[in-house]
Amino acid sequence: MSANTILLVEDEPEIRDLLGFSLGRAGFQVWESPTAEDAIQRLDGALPSLVILDWMLPGMSGVDFARRLRRDPLTAEIPIIMLTARGEETDKLKSFDSGVDDYVTKPFSPRELIARVKALLRRSGTPESGRIEHGPLSLDLNAHQLSIHGKPVPLGPTEFRLLEHFMTNPGRAFDRSQLLDRVWGRSVYVEERTVDVHILRLRKALQPHGLQHVIQTVRGVGYRYLQPE
Ligand code: CA
Repeated sequence: MSANTILLVEDEPEIRDLLGFSLGRAGFQVWESPTAEDAIQRLDGALPSLVILDWMLPGMSGVDFARRLRRDPLTAEIPIIMLTARGEETDKLKSFDSGVDDYVTKPFSPRELIARVKALLRRSGTPESGRIEHGPLSLDLNAHQLSIHGKPVPLGPTEFRLLEHFMTNPGRAFDRSQLLDRVWGRSVYVEERTVDVHILRLRKALQPHGLQHVIQTVRGVGYRYLQPE
């Protein structure tokens, strides 16, 4: 769930290589998939910030894959950019119908696509800078470093991902199985009480700074993050 991860689903190797390279140079982490089926397997472990999806794919089409992403509550919110061939007006309409957020017509320049990616990430509230700042809390998503009042605070990798998930969803309550899905990934088998152990560790790391209360227990549900002033 790193903030700057792009899932690129494109069957043409030349376009995939070019885009992968350009997105990488622009500071994004890129997962490349030649088919929708391959992309589905990847999504089992972790979620990207945005999906770039070719319309014409062997096997499952880009539109069907987009619909599938929208149907699943876990992936419904991920922004999607569809790549279409020139002038396919009805295709464009259909892709909006499938829940696609934007489309780019081939041939296009990587620069144009990256501009669209950045605009869409801004609109969807994903921090493009790779940093989330809430009051004294600052999370550097590239360096995987938490700072409080500008001072680095050591945090285990799971606690970091938990805090990242909470800080990108302030005020929302999550039950333990939702947290397991979103922070640990679906393919990992972990008992629900493991969540409590890591919540405890996260609070312990925040406690010396008087910030343990930002992680709240929601009785009968699970946990919620309250953004500090
Ligand atoms: Ca294609």
